[in-house]
Amino acid sequence: MSIPTDLIKRFPWLPSLKLHYSDIADKLPSEFITDIFSKSDSQQISECVFIIFKSAFNNLEDIPKMKEDNLTVYVYILLNILVYALNNKLITNRIANLYSKNVYSKMEKDNSESNLYYICLDLELRVNFYDPPIKFGNKMLKDNREKQVTNFAIYYIDYLKLASNLRDDYRKLAHNPLQNGYVYIQNRNLMRLIQEYVRNKIIIEETEDKASLKSFLEEVLKNQEFKELYEKINSIWTKRKEDFDFTFKIDITGKTDILKLYPPCVIEILKKAEEGQNLVHHERLFIVWFLLSLDYPVEKVVDVFSTLPDFDREKTIYQVAYAKKKKYVPYQCSTLQSINLCMKEKYKDKLCLEGYGSVEPSERKKLKHPLAYVRIKQYRDEKEEEYLKNKAKRVLEESQKQNE
Ligand code: SF4
Repeated sequence: MSIPTDLIKRFPWLPSLKLHYSDIADKLPSEFITDIFSKSDSQQISECVFIIFKSAFNNLEDIPKMKEDNLTVYVYILLNILVYALNNKLITNRIANLYSKNVYSKMEKDNSESNLYYICLDLELRVNFYDPPIKFGNKMLKDNREKQVTNFAIYYIDYLKLASNLRDDYRKLAHNPLQNGYVYIQNRNLMRLIQEYVRNKIIIEETEDKASLKSFLEEVLKNQEFKELYEKINSIWTKRKEDFDFTFKIDITGKTDILKLYPPCVIEILKKAEEGQNLVHHERLFIVWFLLSLDYPVEKVVDVFSTLPDFDREKTIYQVAYAKKKKYVPYQCSTLQSINLCMKEKYKDKLCLEGYGSVEPSERKKLKHPLAYVRIKQYRDEKEEEYLKNKAKRVLEESQKQNE
């Protein structure tokens, strides 16, 4: 069944792009680039792509000024070529997250069940479509019972394929009503699964094959306009990259670079978030409770999640503020070890591996809690600072004596 061309224009990541735009979809990247930049609207295409990169580097949650027109298809293909050419995991994740979030917003704004149905068909998802929507359950929201209605049920295998990378507990099959092999799913949750499909479609692994990347770059960079765009993106990335490296170096004490006081289990989660990778449920809870225990303001904790593919600012603010009110205590080391979040081996961290309290190994105490790690590191830092100050004072006094 053929889907409307207009839908491909809005959603060029659909498989039917190849059918509707076979003249461009099958071209070699270098041919496509030559064609694009010989078009009268090449400036506009280039500008749209640049805005997407800039928005991703600035960690925006949506793409501003994205016009719906005939250029969307060209923008999408050019974007993918650039992602490959830049060959950088951080950039790829950011672009994939932002672009797929934008797809979700578009589907939500469309609010069209028939379009959603066409999208499912094109993705070869086996769905049952109900028009009018059917009621499939009730959900308790605070004190209100909310009727759950939907236009869709999706075959469980297709559901599992799409949801396999999503970490929220409520997306687990066991938490969703299933009948005759079909999972009832609310329209917005189906959109969220499609968002994930788009995200995965853009994500490509960094290539290790430097020789083929080099020859690819030599070929595509022959086009002057493409080269300028590539260099412009590279240059803003180089400037912003430094900021990313320091995003989590938030000085909450006014004196210390707090990041170097964090244990490996925390650093690992912050790094994953920074790279725009999904976090499992326990990682999310742990990092929230850990940062709140250190008196991080709610909005700073929320910002940690802003790079994640399923980030919803309003929902996250509510959840973090709730955790703060409840004063949850972060997991201790034994719990983190049992859920595979302890990273002492990976980081070969001395304090985590060897303990503390004495130079004599048999007298050392075992580290039991990540917050203890912070306190011990802080204590050691202060001692070191004091030692260095005293040493500097002694050196100064000695040189003064010698001069007398
Ligand atoms: S030993 Fe504790 S503090 Fe260190 S990485 Fe493991 S869980 Fe974190």
